[in-house]
Amino acid sequence: MIANFGYKDGSGDYFISIDTDKCNGCGDCVPVCPAGVLEVRDNEFDPLADDKMAAVKEEHRKKIKYSCAQCKPEMNMKNLPCIMACPPDAIAHSW
Ligand code: SF4
Ligand code: SF4
Repeated sequence: MIANFGYKDGSGDYFISIDTDKCNGCGDCVPVCPAGVLEVRDNEFDPLADDKMAAVKEEHRKKIKYSCAQCKPEMNMKNLPCIMACPPDAIAHSW
């Protein structure tokens, strides 16, 4: 499934999406993020599964537009550090 972390306001939709079917919990996206936005935790969407998944930390969820500002808009969407670091291509951004 697609797990969406973020919010929308009058200026747009700001979500980081993790494809939980692709994410293997490797954690490679965590250290490359200059804002410390991401973490690996238990798969909250499938508590019975014995696996981990990447997620946006709670403290960043409601301000993700600003947390990610240092990567945007200078970088092309495909060149974002988190996306580049993810081998199975499990991360997407809505903006
Ligand atoms: S866009 Fe940049 S700041 Fe936002 S999650 Fe990815 S690496 Fe972190
Ligand atoms: S790099 Fe990709 S596969 Fe690894 S934890 Fe992050 S989102 Fe999941």
